[in-house]
Amino acid sequence: MNIHEYQGKSILQVHDVPVQEGFIAENADHAKLVAEELQKRFGTEIFVIKAQIHAGGRGKGGGVKIARSPVEAAEVAARMIGMTLVTPQTGPAGKLVNKVLIARDVYYKGESDIREFYMSILLDRKRSAYVIMYSTEGGMDIEEVAVKKPEAIFTEVIDPAIGLLDFQIRTIAFNLGLQGKAFKEMLPFVRRLWNAYVASDASLIEINPLLKTSDDRILAVDCKVTLDDNSLFRHPELAAMRDLSEEDPTEVEATDHSLNYVKLDGDVGCMVNGAGLAMATMDLIQLSGGKPANFLDVGGGANAKTVEAGFRIILKDPNVRAILVNIFGGIVRCDRVASGIIEAYKTIGDIKVPVIVRLQGTNAIEAKDLIDNSGLKVIAATTFTDAAEKVRMALS
Ligand code: GDP
Ligand code: MN
Repeated sequence: MNIHEYQGKSILQVHDVPVQEGFIAENADHAKLVAEELQKRFGTEIFVIKAQIHAGGRGKGGGVKIARSPVEAAEVAARMIGMTLVTPQTGPAGKLVNKVLIARDVYYKGESDIREFYMSILLDRKRSAYVIMYSTEGGMDIEEVAVKKPEAIFTEVIDPAIGLLDFQIRTIAFNLGLQGKAFKEMLPFVRRLWNAYVASDASLIEINPLLKTSDDRILAVDCKVTLDDNSLFRHPELAAMRDLSEEDPTEVEATDHSLNYVKLDGDVGCMVNGAGLAMATMDLIQLSGGKPANFLDVGGGANAKTVEAGFRIILKDPNVRAILVNIFGGIVRCDRVASGIIEAYKTIGDIKVPVIVRLQGTNAIEAKDLIDNSGLKVIAATTFTDAAEKVRMALS
């Protein structure tokens, strides 16, 4: 699960990681109040207004703007809230801005002694370890640095059984070229960032830019956090950070029905039970000349209701030209799946695309009877290759 910058920063603050302070605002009046509060607390004169969307590259897309008074902050916020922001990471459709973060300027304009670093902690599956990736070239795309100046990217590998060691933190501060006060500040920064990562069961925390201010403070200016979905049950306060408006609505609906759905860009919708069979079915569709429109695992407990919901979700995709239902009845009973298909035909109404159904295993015979007697134009398939052939015919 991804969260917003302001939410990520709140996690960091719980662990005493210094961040560029700010408050969230949902409208212009609110933005003015918040800016005045920053003025009171910190003597802030320059404000940074940052669009809160689940995508980076906001700086390039006009989602990060400077204001020089609370009134101006309100004006900028008024323009930003409600706009569709397009950045290099949103795709051409962009993302709607619902909230902005009003932060204090930490670049102290006019002074030159500022440095922007990059730092992320992530799970490296190949190494079976955590990695701290960091660079002196922060502020810009790290992918670009990796191509143009790979020697500027350092990694520190962390054994999950041992954790982050102090000498590794000193290595990081040395490699970033820090000295004096900034060096001393970087040590607790990295330690606390690591603590935040572990405590929140994050799979990624990325700070870009990580700023050394002109007075040698170390601050997280930006913050991207990805949390491990499987851990959310033990972090209700983090689970509550989920922002459904940032997610694909069809995928959200699928989750509500305990369906595991991932939208793809092909033309054959598929409904399968079990992730392994679902993968094999997608291969099968590919081999028969089609392209899967989705991954959909109805799971082991599929019943008429979940199957109907699955059909509804698949049919929302206008690219779907055929549907392949491939169910192996182990725990799932095929007759229940058949009832779900019949129910879906009744309630959804006119299903125009051909539906190829392969039901094998427990109660397959009863399922076939149900479908044969329903009078529906469902194409029955028996074997895997038979199903592939029928998908091919349906597409041609
Ligand atoms: P991203 O573009 O979505 O990654 O958003 P960031 O939070 O990284 O901000 C983008 C850029 O805005 C940064 O690289 C900075 O150059 C600039 N920026 C962020 N905070 C400040 C600030 O306090 N003062 C000034 N002058 N610029 C800032
Ligand atoms: Mn950034």
